[in-house]
Amino acid sequence: MKTIGIIGGGQLGLMIAEQAHVLGVRAVALDPAPDAPAFRVCDDHIVAAYNDAEALERLCRMSDAVTYEFENVPGDILIPLSEKYNIPQGYRPLYDSQDRFREKTNARDHGLRTPGFAAVDDEASLRAAVRELGLPAVLKTRTLGYDGHGQMVLRREEDIERALPLLTVPCILEEFIAFDSEASIVMVADREHVVSFPVGRNIHRDGILDLSIVPAAADAEVLGRMKVQSERFMRDCGYEGILAIEYFIRGREIFFNEMAPRPHNSGHYTIEGCTTNQFRELVRYLVGEPLQEPRLVAPTVMKNILGQDLETARQVEREHRPNVYVHLYGKTESRPKRKMGHITFVGMTGDEYEKEWADRFVK
Ligand code: AMP
Repeated sequence: MKTIGIIGGGQLGLMIAEQAHVLGVRAVALDPAPDAPAFRVCDDHIVAAYNDAEALERLCRMSDAVTYEFENVPGDILIPLSEKYNIPQGYRPLYDSQDRFREKTNARDHGLRTPGFAAVDDEASLRAAVRELGLPAVLKTRTLGYDGHGQMVLRREEDIERALPLLTVPCILEEFIAFDSEASIVMVADREHVVSFPVGRNIHRDGILDLSIVPAAADAEVLGRMKVQSERFMRDCGYEGILAIEYFIRGREIFFNEMAPRPHNSGHYTIEGCTTNQFRELVRYLVGEPLQEPRLVAPTVMKNILGQDLETARQVEREHRPNVYVHLYGKTESRPKRKMGHITFVGMTGDEYEKEWADRFVK
C-alpha cells in the first residue's frame, strides 16, 4: 500500500486524504495545529511548523510521494528535501507563485496576458507606477497575500497617501481590470498528459470566493481558448502535478490573475460535479497511476461556507436533500470570514441557485 505525505493539514489536505483512501492510498499530513482538519482522516500525522526541517524530513521518510496544500513552504527547506525524496511537483511552481511580481512576470514570459503591473517599494516607485498604469489600480503585497488580504484599490491621487502604510513590505501595483467575470481552471499533469476540469465562473465577496458556477456562462470560444492556453502554459513551464489558474474575463479578453500549485477552492465542485475530481487526480499523479480525463456530470454550483453561514449549513445537512452535498471541515474554531465548509449543488444553474437558495445565506 502506498503512502502520500501532505505538507499542510487544512481542508485541502483533508480532501486529498479522503480521495487517497478512495484509491486505496494511505495519507500522512504535517501541520502546526494539533487539531488540523486533515488529521481526522489521515492515517498518521505530524504536528510541526512548516519550517521544521527535521519534521518535514520525517514526513518524507514516511511517504512514497509528498505534496503540499500550503503555498508558503520555504524553498531552503523544500529544495534539499526534493533532491533526496520523492516530491514530484518540486519547488519550481511554488517558487514561481510565492511572489506576485515573479508570478506575473513568469505568466507573461510564457505567453499569458496579465493586467499591467509594476514592482513598488516606496513612495517614489508607487507614484511612478501610478503614472505608468493609471488609476484605478490595485496595490498588493508581493508575498503572503491571500483572499484579498494585503490589498488596496487606489481610485484617486489622494489614495496614494493612504496606501503608503502598506509599503513596509515589497508590493506590486496592478492595472485595475473592470472584468465582466472571474473564472478559473484546475489542471493535473503527468509527464505525458494534462487533464483539465471544466472552467467555472467564480464570484468573490470581500476578496473571498463565495460561489463557483459551472459551466462558466462565458462565450464558448473564450472558454476554449482559456483551456488551450492554460494547458500549454503548464507544459511550457514544465510543471507537473496540480495547478489552478484564476483569470479575469473582459469581453473576449482573458487576463491571468494568479496561480496555485495545489488543489483550489474553485475546484471543490469537482468532487460531486465531475466524473473524477481534483483531489483524486492529484493522488493518481502522486502514486504514478494514469490520469483520468474528467467530465462534468451536470451544471453545478459550489457555495463556500464561512463562519457566518455555519449554522445554516448544518441545517441544510440535516435536510438530506438529493444532489445537495454538505462538506464541513470540522474546524474547532469558527470565525465570520473563516472557510468552514462548502456545499455543492449538482444539477443546478446559477439562476436556480439565486432563486431557490441565495436567501438562506448571509448576504
Ligand atoms: P487576488 O488575491 O489577487 O486573487 O485578488 C482577490 C480579488 O480581488 C480578485 O479575485 C478580484 O476580484 C479582485 N482583484 C484583484 N486584482 C484585481 C485587478 N487587477 N483588477 C480588478 N480586480 C482585481
